[in-house]
Amino acid sequence: MSQRPQPRITDDNRPHWEGAREGRLVLPYCEACARFFYPISPFCPFCLKAPVAWKPVSGRGRVSSWVVFHKAFYPYFADRLPYVVVQVELEEGPRVNGNLFGLDPGSIRLGLPVEATFEREGAEVTLPQFRARAAP
Ligand SMILES: [Zn+2]
Repeated sequence: MSQRPQPRITDDNRPHWEGAREGRLVLPYCEACARFFYPISPFCPFCLKAPVAWKPVSGRGRVSSWVVFHKAFYPYFADRLPYVVVQVELEEGPRVNGNLFGLDPGSIRLGLPVEATFEREGAEVTLPQFRARAAP
């Protein structure tokens, strides 16, 4: 079986992956702006200050975009077709990406409420993913 493509864990993103291993979605947070941001960066994209803090977010958000893959561009995904990659706008603001589990691809809608779930890949890597949730 082919291996799944793995994230590259570096000093700049390590808190994110350590959080995921503990079942928490942890994102960079700028104390000067009092806001979370993503993609991960060693400095704040709004005010350019560094260093940034790391804090857990709720993991709750809504689907802001998605793609349904019917072709496996990596052999690893052949058994998972069709699979869904969503962009989620978190309650805290940033937009993050992940797979969406447990829902027929035809049922996905813009604004669908989702929450983070975690897929363990090995000792080092746990991937933040998403599943549908009941709206509040
Ligand atoms: Zn800032």
